[in-house]
Formats: sequence, structure tokens, C-alpha cells
Amino acid sequence: MLQVTETTERSTSTPATVDSFKDEFLRQLRYEQGVELGTASRDDLFQALARTVRNYMVDNWLTTVETQKAAGSKVVAYLSAEYLMGPQLDNALLSTGLTDVADTALSSLGLSLDDIRATEVEPGLGNGGLGRLAACFIDSLATKNIPAIGYGIRYEYGIFRQTFVDGRQVEQPDSWLSNGTPWEIPHTDQAVEVAFGGHTEQAIDQTGRSVTRWVPGETVLAVPYNYMVPGYGTANVNTLRLWSAKATNAFNLHIFNSGDYESAVRAQTVAENISKVLYPEDSTPQGKELRLKQQYFFVAASIKDFLRTLPEGFDLKKLPERIVFQLNDTHPVIGVPELMRILVDERGLAWEDAWDITRRSFNYTCHTLLPEALEVWSVDLLGRLLPRHLEIIYRINEQFLAGIRATYPGDELRVRRMSIIQEQPERAVRMAFLATVGSTKVNGVAALHSDLLRDKVLDDFSAYWPDKFTNVTNGITPRRFVQLSNPSLANLIDDTIGTGWLNDLERLKELEPYAEDASFRKAFREVKQANKDRFVSLLAQRDGIELSSDALFDVMVKRLHEYKRQMLKLLHVVTIYDRVLKGEIKAADLTPRVVVFGAKAAPGYKMAKEIIFLINSVAKVVNNAPELEGRLRVAFPANYNVTLAEKLIPAADLSEQISLAGKEASGTGNMKFALNGALTIGTLDGANVEIHELVGGENFFLFGMTEPEVQSLSDAGYHPTSFYEGNASLRGAIDLISSGIFSGGDRTAFEFVISDLLYKDRFMVLADYQTYIEAQERVEVAYADQESWSRKAILNVARTGFFTSDRSIQDYLDRIWHAPAFPVTK
Ligand SMILES: *Cc1c(COP(=O)(O)O)cnc(C)c1O
Repeated sequence: MLQVTETTERSTSTPATVDSFKDEFLRQLRYEQGVELGTASRDDLFQALARTVRNYMVDNWLTTVETQKAAGSKVVAYLSAEYLMGPQLDNALLSTGLTDVADTALSSLGLSLDDIRATEVEPGLGNGGLGRLAACFIDSLATKNIPAIGYGIRYEYGIFRQTFVDGRQVEQPDSWLSNGTPWEIPHTDQAVEVAFGGHTEQAIDQTGRSVTRWVPGETVLAVPYNYMVPGYGTANVNTLRLWSAKATNAFNLHIFNSGDYESAVRAQTVAENISKVLYPEDSTPQGKELRLKQQYFFVAASIKDFLRTLPEGFDLKKLPERIVFQLNDTHPVIGVPELMRILVDERGLAWEDAWDITRRSFNYTCHTLLPEALEVWSVDLLGRLLPRHLEIIYRINEQFLAGIRATYPGDELRVRRMSIIQEQPERAVRMAFLATVGSTKVNGVAALHSDLLRDKVLDDFSAYWPDKFTNVTNGITPRRFVQLSNPSLANLIDDTIGTGWLNDLERLKELEPYAEDASFRKAFREVKQANKDRFVSLLAQRDGIELSSDALFDVMVKRLHEYKRQMLKLLHVVTIYDRVLKGEIKAADLTPRVVVFGAKAAPGYKMAKEIIFLINSVAKVVNNAPELEGRLRVAFPANYNVTLAEKLIPAADLSEQISLAGKEASGTGNMKFALNGALTIGTLDGANVEIHELVGGENFFLFGMTEPEVQSLSDAGYHPTSFYEGNASLRGAIDLISSGIFSGGDRTAFEFVISDLLYKDRFMVLADYQTYIEAQERVEVAYADQESWSRKAILNVARTGFFTSDRSIQDYLDRIWHAPAFPVTK
């Protein structure tokens, strides 16, 4: 019998043996799933396995929560409308140290861990980078023993499942809960009420003061679902609490009273619609009523939830010593007026005291530079849904603008610029301004982004409050994105520098000398090759796509957005094809390349969907072009998500991070690739700037305009046609697309995309084309020397330990949160 008590630094509260694990698994199968081993379905096996692992985390979880509460520790409450968690089983096995135990126990029953884990459906409760960041952050918070809770929404449908029909994106609902999920624990008894609508009234309280009372029109219940967030290498297990909407009893009473059963039931559905579906827009939010309801719903529930944990008679002036709310983008900003409402209207605090408490309790992370991504809510809608909150926002604004007028007498232009309320094109609340005014600290998510926030997007605010602005460069959890996704690389690192680097990622620096060690380089290449082989067989089985793993793997995966410039990558592909067709290069001289795209488009984003159609159309022709002799392949597997990312990123040689400088706030995909030994071809944008700086110019393919160059070109007047006319190679590529060769002779098929590129090209694809092509030529030269390429790839891994989300969290702690760690002991 294999005795596993302390085989690793990873902890389990109950020492697990293969036998006890097996017993618990069989018990789960029989008594929770209600099946025999012999007749269990794959899902039965998964559910039973997941519950078994989950139960090994529960004791540590309850201990963590209870001891921290009893000690009155300061809590970080991370407020995020999205958590893109990815599959949970492997992470739970890793943190409990039970991977080998589970593997052995299942094998002894004739079952395969690999088969069972493949059945897990990932909770896709986020769109892309922002939601994935929240997931990485709660992982690091737990790992660093910080008392923390993640608050969000338990969407019944997460991000849609993408399919392609005749090359076009078709969305399918993501019914991730259809088989139930073993990872959640609902607490209907702990539901809180959240109100909407109605009106406000003035009243006189017992002390004779005039007070405002909100008389809501309707209420819904927010039911908490708890998920365990285990740390790595620690006994601490934190909580992610997602809220689900449920109709209140008042609704049910209404059924009896009204006698109109059908409409009462319909009303119930309306209430429960609040947490029904994740909005699939990334970077361009829509001002929909239901979206604002979602935001207020989860924030109001979360604040109430935290306040009820405070002891009787707690002095609310001390609230900032007990909690810090971190706003992940503007989605939860309605929490600022909500806390004001509670403190002033419900708890009777003076406005000034309440404002001081509120401002000291909130901090705001901005995630964008695109003006269209900055949320605004029409005063009309906000006033209808949250009348009291609108009054409070007005008062906050009045007071704020009075301060501006005092500092800048006579500068009414500035007052108008800075007002939380915009007048044009409609009266609306600028949520980023409300967040900035209502927070102690405002941070950008990469060095360049924070500079641009300070100097451009929020320049008036940084002039007024210079100390409010700071930077925290994003990060990724190396547990998921190295250990779990790339176990071969993790093993090689273990064998080379020992263990312990997974929660001390700067230790990867110790790999640097091995870049000069030929046998290490060989082992490193073998890892990459094995990952490519693994990915190739996955794609064959998942999508029926047949690829050779004997090629340069050139990967661009991220949401489809014009600013990210998938079109630039596609123009490179078409350029290669065009040159071969014209006999300018021989196919035999091409570096064999597999170009992999992965991207979902927001369902209402026409341009993004047309670009997907164009990519698929080009892929179909290029992949079957005899002229290319199979040396250029384009693969576009549908439904890019965390599960796919974990298999794809370790297989990449080249990471495409080619946004227009000044548009990508940070990016985190870029970090995942570098840490897995891909070289980046990229612009000086977002965190690419820091990656470039850290890995060194010789180990990064830099191209394109800098942000100031973009600004001057834009100021001078950008004319994409002049780039088209002045560059034969670019003209060749665009003309080839317009020729109909990718559309069965239809010359108009891609007009929507091409005419935009030629006459608008807001993200200056054509201006950066030439330097991009040249950088790709440098890539081919570099790749031809495999020893030198491996050296560069190893240095990328060795020098990007900075991008662990543990470091991001430490920066938040030092610069913003000031919450001490509270390790619990087993
Ligand atoms: C990391 C990640 C992203 C973010 O990628 P960027 O290249 O930074 O935009 C999006 N989606 C998934 C599934 C991810 O894992």
C-alpha cells in the first residue's frame, strides 16, 4: 500500500492513502451518484472523482475561513463580473498533492485518470483576459495566505461555445451546469435580498434629522454558491462566492394574491434571468438594462454579505481596516454609491464620514485604453433601476466638482471634462470617473498602460490627485500555466534547479546558465517537440485537423478584435502564398510553418465575424494549395478556451502579440507563451514592453510603431491607401484576397474587411505591415539555427518569472491593499 502523508510540501488535512482514496471514490459513486462501478457513465466517474478530491480540501477550507474570521483579519474582497476558471480537477489534485494517489487508485479499479479528466466541462464564466486574470489572482491570493474572497456571478450560461459553419462563427449556448458541477456548494439559507426600481422618499428620523429612504419596486434573492480556492504549498483554502438570482417569496405570495398565476410565474423567470447569461462582449460593453442589473445584483449582495460577518456593534469607521474592495474594471463600481447608501441611509452615518470610509475601502483597476470600452450608463436607465444610487452619484459629483472649481477657479472646461456625468451624446454616468473619484488607488495593468492612463485617459485626474495612480503589471499563475499545462517542462525544471520555484518564480533565473548547456538545450527541445506532438494528436481527435508537428508553430490566440490585429497575421500568411504563386520564392525554401489561430468574436461584432470568415476561407485554400507543398498550414480550431490554451501554449514556438501600440492594456497570453518557451514577435504594447526588456532584444522579435509614433501618424493624418500603393508586397496580398481566390471566384466576399483596411484602418495594420514582414523574415533565419533558437527560448523561460501572478498580488499588497498574510496551520 502506498502511504502518502507528506510526500510533498503540498498539504492535505486528512492523510490520504490509495486505499482511503479508493474507498471514498467508491462511496461517492454509490451513495452520491447512485450507480455501480460497472455501470457508471464517464460523467458519474468524473463527478465521483471530483467530489472525492473536493472532500480532501474541505477541512482546510473551513479552518481557513473560521480562523481568519475569528481573528478579524483584514480581507481582500475581489469584485469581478467574470472568472474564467478553466477546468478544476487537476488544480485541486495539484494543491492537495493527490495526483499520484488518484492515478494509482483509479488504475487499480481499471479506470484512467486521463480519460476521466477529459470529461470535465470548464466553467467559462468570463470572456477572455479580464476574467482569466481574476482566476489567476484568487489562486495567488490563496497561495500567499491572504484572507481573501472572490465575489462574482454564477452565470447559468457562460461564454458561448463557438462552432464554424461554412467558415462562419455560429454560437451555441454554454450549458456548463447541465450535468451539475461538483465544485460548488450552494447556501440557499444564506441568500440576501437585492432591491431594484421604485422611488425615494424624504423622512425625519428619531433624532429629528432629515433622511432619505429608498422604496424599491421589486426585490430578488441572491443565493451564494461557494467554491473552494486552494492555495499551492499551503493549507490555506479561500472562497470564491458566486451569486445566483432567485425570485423572492414575495413573488410567490404575489402568485396567490393576484390570481394571475401565469404572469406571476413569468415574473419569477424575469427575476431569475439576472444571472442567466454572461454578456459575450469583450472590450465593447453594451448599455443593456440586464447588464446593469447583473452588476448591481452581485455587488449589493457581496457588500451585504461582508457586512453581516462583522461583529455586533462594530464601529463602521474602522471598516477600511477590515476590508478592501478591489474593483476589477468598472463593472462593480456601483458598489461605491451602494456602500454610501448603506452607511448614510441605513446606518445613519454623516455623509462626510461615510464618504471617507467608502473611498478608503475601494480601489479601482482600469483595464483598457479604448474609449469605446469605457462604460457609461444613461442617467435615464440608472435612475429607473437605482433611483437612490443616482441621487448619491449626483451628490458625489457635486462635491467633487466643487473641489475642482476651488483648485482651478474659472476653468469650467475642465469641470465639464472631469464631471462624472457626461452631457453628450446623452446624459450618462461615466463609470471610470466614478471609480476614480470613489477609490483610494487607481491602477493600470502594465507599465505602459499605467503611464498612458495617467497621461492621457485620466490625465485631469492624475493632475488633481498625483498619488492616486499606480501600476500593477498583470501576471499569470504558474501552477496552471506551467505545472499543469506543461508537466514535461516542469519536470525538466525540477530536475535542473530543484523544486520550490512554483511559488518563487524568480528562481527560474537559475536556468540561465543552462542556455549554454548543449544537453539541456536538447532536453528542452524534446519537451517542446513532445508538446507539439501532444497538440497535433489533440487537434486530430478534437477537430479532425491533421497537422505535422515538424514545423514552426506560430500561434495567435486571443479574442478577435480589430485592435489585436489578427488581420496583420493573416496578411503575412497571404503574402507568403502570393510570393510562392508569383514564383518570388520557392516552396522548398519556406520554413515549414503551422499558423494556429484561436479566437471568439462577440456575436454582434460584424467586423470580427467577417475576419473569422476570412481566416477560415484563406485556411481552406492555403491548406490545399499544391504550390505550397504542405509547408504552410493554417489551423483555426473552434472554441478557444482555457482547456485548449493549456494544450496549445506549451506547443508554440512563436507567440503573436501584435496589437497596435497603445491599445492593448497588458495582455496575459503574452506572458503564458514566454514562460512556456515561445519567442514573441510583438509590438511595444502592454506588457510586451516589459517582456522585451526582461528577455532582452536579441530574444524577442520587435517590430512596429511605438505609441508616440502611432500618435504622430494619427495627428498627421493616416492614409492607409498610401501604404497599399507604396508597397508591392502588401498590394499583392490585398489584391489576392480581392481576386476571389479564397471565395470561389466571388470578388466581393471580403469587401467589408478589405475596404475598411484600405480606407479606414483604425488600428494601422497597413502602416505596420512592412516591419512585421521583415520581423517574420528574422524569425525564419533565427529558427534555422535550432541551437540558437533553443538558447533564446530557454532565456525566455528563465527571465519571465516576474510575470507570476504571485508577484502581481505582492504589488497589490504593497501598494494598495496592505493586508497581512494569515497562514493557517493544519
Ligand atoms: C490568457 C487567456 C486570454 C487572454 O489572452 P490575451 O492574449 O492576453 O488577450 C484569453 N482567453 C483565454 C482562454 C486565456 O487563457
